[in-house]
Amino acid sequence: MKSNYIELASSGARNLKPYEPGKSTEDLERELGICNAVKLASNENPLGPSQKSIAACQSALASVHLYPDNDSHALKDLLSDKLGVEKQSLVVGNGSTQLIDLIANAYLGDGEEAIYSEYGFIYYAIAVASNNAKAKVTKAKNWGHDLTEMANAITESTKVVFIANPNNPTGTWLSHEEILGFMQKVPSRAIVVLDEAYIEYQVKDNLPNAVELHKQFPNLIVTRTFSKAYGLSGLRIGYAITSNEIADVLNRLRAPFSVNSLSELAAVAVLQDKDYLAQSRLVNQLGLAQLEAGLKLLDIEYIPSAGNFITIKCSHKALRTNLELMKKGLIVRPLTPYNMPDHLRITVGLEAQNKTLLQALERLL
Ligand SMILES: *Cc1c(COP(=O)(O)O)cnc(C)c1O
Repeated sequence: MKSNYIELASSGARNLKPYEPGKSTEDLERELGICNAVKLASNENPLGPSQKSIAACQSALASVHLYPDNDSHALKDLLSDKLGVEKQSLVVGNGSTQLIDLIANAYLGDGEEAIYSEYGFIYYAIAVASNNAKAKVTKAKNWGHDLTEMANAITESTKVVFIANPNNPTGTWLSHEEILGFMQKVPSRAIVVLDEAYIEYQVKDNLPNAVELHKQFPNLIVTRTFSKAYGLSGLRIGYAITSNEIADVLNRLRAPFSVNSLSELAAVAVLQDKDYLAQSRLVNQLGLAQLEAGLKLLDIEYIPSAGNFITIKCSHKALRTNLELMKKGLIVRPLTPYNMPDHLRITVGLEAQNKTLLQALERLL
């Protein structure tokens, strides 16, 4: 008799909904028989990778018969220097989602409690549920994190609080004072994860200084990634800055060699490529302004964003609009999994891509 392998899985795994990645251009091109699909759905960097990252990967290819440096010394030395943090306070992971997993594995168990916000990044829910932990979801304020609500939600059994700043998929952002004020209210036994996947794009006033906060609060874990402004989504590499003790715990749990040698060298190369980051930020700032101006002209409501994407409101027509855009070869992200069925998230592209998107929206109206 065949066993039911869904029933045999842990309750956390049984109840998980799989993460839905954006459709790829290849899939859409195959379906429509076209060859120029534009994907503005996964917050990838429209510039392509830094030439320095490409060159680093090419020269590292000759050594892929060797295991990578399990401690990522080259990257940690550079980060430690650049950020002014101790090397022992850094953890390098296979994307920042691996770091989120490690945090959940380390600090969340059966029935233990984690807090995150309504419309917060969806992976927190997955990491919490897969460890059979309990999620407490706080109400959002203007689509963003309500830090007062979140602080009030903390109880004796709260182990981890997840905050994305800027937040995906809403693009909302928090100031240094807001995060500082929150940290002062959190008991030291509760761990706060400040997910800064888009921090390089945040050009609003009063940018949070997470490095400063990390020195003041040993229960803070700041996570960052090379997937967005640094243009290395496909290589899966990110890092955390935290207290030496938490870093030690996360490093013990991390699977050996989870960060491959090409990724580490590509990250080292792009960190030293100041022009690339400046260009990423500039293209994004101009693209966001272009999209905002176009959306205003079309009278389409949007949530102001500090990220490399913008979330628009299509009332009850979001799924129809998504399908119609797809027929025109444009991939954006419906937000039904976030309980935002009336919204679509659009990644900021190159000028011509943004223009194509705006023109397609205009024709649909
Ligand atoms: C894209 C994203 C990440 C990054 O994930 P990686 O695993 O580093 O590619 C993390 N957090 C948020 C909020 C994101 O949107």
